[in-house]
Amino acid sequence: MIDTSRLRIEKTSVSKLSDIDFNNIPFGRVFSDHMYVAEYDNGAWSNMRIVPFKNFSIHPANIAWHYGQSVFEGMKATKANDGTPILFRPEKHAIRINKSAARMCMPEFPQESFMEAVYELVKLEKGWIPPQEGSALYLRPYMVAMDEFIGVQVAKSYMFCIFCCPVGPYYAKDLKLKADDTYIRAAQGGVGAAKAAGNYGASLYPASLAKQEGYDQVLWLDAKEFKYVQEVGTMNIFFAFGDKVVTPATSGTILDGITRDSCIQILKEKGIEVEERPLSIEEIMQGGKDGSLTEVFGSGTAAVIAPVKEIAYKGDVINIDTSAFKIAPMLKDTLNGIRSERLEDSFGWNVRVV
Ligand SMILES: *Cc1c(COP(=O)(O)O)cnc(C)c1O
Repeated sequence: MIDTSRLRIEKTSVSKLSDIDFNNIPFGRVFSDHMYVAEYDNGAWSNMRIVPFKNFSIHPANIAWHYGQSVFEGMKATKANDGTPILFRPEKHAIRINKSAARMCMPEFPQESFMEAVYELVKLEKGWIPPQEGSALYLRPYMVAMDEFIGVQVAKSYMFCIFCCPVGPYYAKDLKLKADDTYIRAAQGGVGAAKAAGNYGASLYPASLAKQEGYDQVLWLDAKEFKYVQEVGTMNIFFAFGDKVVTPATSGTILDGITRDSCIQILKEKGIEVEERPLSIEEIMQGGKDGSLTEVFGSGTAAVIAPVKEIAYKGDVINIDTSAFKIAPMLKDTLNGIRSERLEDSFGWNVRVV
């Protein structure tokens, strides 16, 4: 049980739940009735509350808007077949937001407060979790600096917030990726391992160039040699060579994905060999040409698993037959099955909200 004695809950008098069609939900544009908010000042978090979803009033000199102390998480609550809300590995997200915060000189948000926040928020918003397997209530925990001050320095005040978006089953279309040999996402010593807002702003321009060339996303290469593959957008990346799976090792420039970790654990449990190591773009292009590369797919909370059908690199293109994929669909089915309790949660990943 979680002690909610310090958490204040103010419920809305008008729910918007009846306005929404669970069979047709645009991703990230529909917001549930309530949100969680806490404030940091004088070295401590206080005023933890769940309140009706509403706009904030922000000072024009808000320091985060100018200098970027802003980190976030993305996680999901699903419904078990018996209707019980389920949080997927919430403690991993609690730990990761604090890793991101530490890199940005932001305070730690206590893990037990994070757990209480997602638990109580999902308990209150359980009617907003779409029932079909593969759909979910997407939770967006984030922390931003709140000082009203212009000057590059560590802020003294922060806000932590969580809001929720119901999302339908993500029918990811097969992706076309461009391995970028001009722009980078993250360099060794930088902030690539943090879910920091600025990383995504910086990725938009190279991604827009890739889109102009007909590609969906950039496959990022390392910043030093433009040789080793890193990840894609908001997904980690996996390559299957027959029944062996390879994924880039997280070396400080790659976001340590929780879906990535779950996939690795499932693969190992199924007896499929997984290698985490540096993986060069040449090895991938070669595998695409000689047929040894059998599957490519992204992993992330939003899409779960996204098959990749094409990779371009320096004018060279390889195509991968996604209709023959076996490992990617197995991983998607296993992850969705665990989260609906259709499959046994043998890893102990689910937190049931009762
Ligand atoms: C969030 C994110 C991922 C995926 O992480 P999950 O925990 O699996 O959702 C991968 N790469 C980047 C850059 C991300 O921001």
